[in-house]
Amino acid sequence: MNKILIVDDNEKTRTMLKRHLKKEKYEIFEAKDGFEALKIVETDKPGVILLDVMMPKISGMDVCRRIRARHDSDLFHIIMLTGVATAESKVSGLDMGADDYVTKPFDIVELLARIRVGFRSVANRKQAIIDNLTQVYNRNFFTAYLKKAIEQAHRYNYDLSLILTDIDHFKKVNDTHGHLAGDKILTEMGSLLKKFCRASDLAVRWGGEEFIIVMPETNIAGGTVLAEKIRAGVAAHDFPVVSGITASFGVATLKKEGADRLLKDADEALYTAKENGRNQVVTYSEEG
Ligand code: GH3
Ligand code: MG
Ligand code: MG
Repeated sequence: MNKILIVDDNEKTRTMLKRHLKKEKYEIFEAKDGFEALKIVETDKPGVILLDVMMPKISGMDVCRRIRARHDSDLFHIIMLTGVATAESKVSGLDMGADDYVTKPFDIVELLARIRVGFRSVANRKQAIIDNLTQVYNRNFFTAYLKKAIEQAHRYNYDLSLILTDIDHFKKVNDTHGHLAGDKILTEMGSLLKKFCRASDLAVRWGGEEFIIVMPETNIAGGTVLAEKIRAGVAAHDFPVVSGITASFGVATLKKEGADRLLKDADEALYTAKENGRNQVVTYSEEG
């Protein structure tokens, strides 16, 4: 069911909106201030957000700015709701990153139509950046994301580490249990990886049965700890159909040479993990 979040400090407005939205069969969330809203964004990921501009504590504009700073910003369609109908305020809302701007008192039929547009637009944007089978980011998104993350890391002198993981003997899974069973394992792997990631980490399907976790502001030791946690989690997980699934991991950290070097180092470490017997984590080191 499509999830929608109503953010308004006025209870009457929330109740009125809820009454209309209930007829449309959305899963409805509500927040009475911006901080509550940001929490719900984090945990429930509502596709459309109806955002009041004037609120105490933290304004709708600030909530909007914070959502736009998230790496999954594209998965939220923000409709600002406000009593201020001037062109300037509309422009500043849209410039702040709102997708749409509706003034109160609004025509509910029009608002409902705009909400439908919002969900369509989120679905399209999601298709462009999320891998359909595993529901983690695709390679396209990763490339653009990594470029920005590396620029930031270099500018502010932050660490950035990366895990490259590859399921062990996956060809045998397909050969023994069929391609559909293989697909199920990949789907499960995607949700496991997301579960292990922190909000700032990014899980990616690199290709086939290979995945990447990008960890901004994380040094090589921190990256290795997470990789080990995931390795143990995968090995202990009860996957559908097939038992004994494991994966191998290579961990590397950003150097001044940038993205190509980072991926090459992680790949080299992963190769060593495979060579050494699989189901293990290898951290890249210059000595090899
Ligand atoms: P290793 O432990 O060395 O990684 O062995 P492996 O068998 O996992 O590695 P290999 O690269 O030889 O095989 C990868 C397999 O992954 C082959 C391919 O059929 C399978 N694969 C890639 N993408 C998909 C997919 O989307 N669905 C399914 N079911 N299988 C896939
Ligand atoms: Mg592979
Ligand atoms: Mg493999």
